[in-house]
Amino acid sequence: MLVKKLIDQGYLSKEEYILLLEQYTQEDKEQLRKRALELKEKYYGKKVYTRGLIEFTNYCKNNCFYCGIQGKNKNVERYRLSMDEILECCQIGWNLGFRTFVLQGGEDPYFTDERIVEIVKAIKGTYENCAITLSIGEKSYEAYKKFREAGADRYLLRHESANEDHYKKLHPEEMTLQNRKECLYQLKELGFETGAGFMVGSPYQTNECLADDLIFLKELQPHMVGIGPFIPHHDTIFAQQEKGSLDKTLLLISVLRIILPKINLPATTALGTLDAKGREKGIQAGANVVMPNLSPTSVRKKYELYDNKICTGDEAAECRGCLQRRIESIGCEMVSERGDSAVLRE
Ligand code: SF4
Repeated sequence: MLVKKLIDQGYLSKEEYILLLEQYTQEDKEQLRKRALELKEKYYGKKVYTRGLIEFTNYCKNNCFYCGIQGKNKNVERYRLSMDEILECCQIGWNLGFRTFVLQGGEDPYFTDERIVEIVKAIKGTYENCAITLSIGEKSYEAYKKFREAGADRYLLRHESANEDHYKKLHPEEMTLQNRKECLYQLKELGFETGAGFMVGSPYQTNECLADDLIFLKELQPHMVGIGPFIPHHDTIFAQQEKGSLDKTLLLISVLRIILPKINLPATTALGTLDAKGREKGIQAGANVVMPNLSPTSVRKKYELYDNKICTGDEAAECRGCLQRRIESIGCEMVSERGDSAVLRE
C-alpha cells in the first residue's frame, strides 16, 4: 500500500518512509524500480550522461569522521594539481567527449576564491560550451557568487545527513547541519544546478535519519542528488564499521527518482566499489549519470575517501571505454553532452 501511495503521490510522510524502509519486500523494491525507470526514460530516455571528474587537491582543513583524506590523517600523501595539470585533464577529457568537468577537492585553503575563479575562467575560456561543476565544500555566499560569475554552472555539496543528531555523529563540532543547509539554499539562489546527497548505511544511521533525508531533499528541490553506500576507510574511527547495503542503496535510488523525477542521479563509484556491477544496477534502478575519473593516474590512489576505491589505476580513456561497455550492456547509451538537469526544462 505504501508503495502505491509513493508512486501515486510522489512523496510519503516521515512515518510512512520509516515504515517503508523497515518493511519493504523484494517485490516492493521491484515495483519501485520499474516506476523509477519509467520516470527516468520519460525525462532522459536511454541516455546516460558522463562527467569527467578531476580530483585536484586532497588537502582538507576539515575532519569529517568518515573521510580518508580528512586533515588529521597523517598517512595521506597530499597533492595539488597545478593549473596546467588541470587544463591537461580537461584537454584529455574534451577529446574523449566529456562536456562536463567536475572539479572536486577537499577544503584546501591554498585554493583561495581567486584561484578557483582563475581556474574556472581558464577552463571556460578554452571550452566555452562545457559545463563546470565545483565540489569544494562550504564557502561564503560571496565566494559562491564569484564562482558563479566566473562561469561555474553546477555545485555539488552532499548534505550527508539531514538529521541533526546523526550529522553530529559524523562531523566535528565546528561543522553544522545548519550551515550545510544554508550553503545549499544559497547555491540554488545563485542559480547553480545544485546537488545534495548522503551515504547509505553510514554509522549510526537509522531509518528515521533516511526519512529526514528524503523529506529535506523534497523540500530543497535540488537539481542533482548523489548517494552511495558507506564504505569505511582504515584510517578513520569508523574503520571497523559495516559497509552500507547495496540493496538499500538501490531502493533509495528508485525512491529518489520517484520523489524528484527530473533530477540528475549518478550511479556512484562507491556503488561500483561495493559490487562489480553496482553502477549498472544503479542505472537500472533509476540513475542516469556516471562520473569517470580524469585525474592523472599518478594521484588517483591518493584521493582515497574510502577503502578499495575502484578505477584508481586506469587511464581516463580506459575508464571511459569500460563504462561505455557497461552502459551499452544494459541497453543504454553513453552520450557526449553537457547533460543539464531536466529540472531546468520546466
Ligand atoms: S568529506 Fe570532504 S570536507 Fe570532509 S574531510 Fe573529507 S574532503 Fe574534507
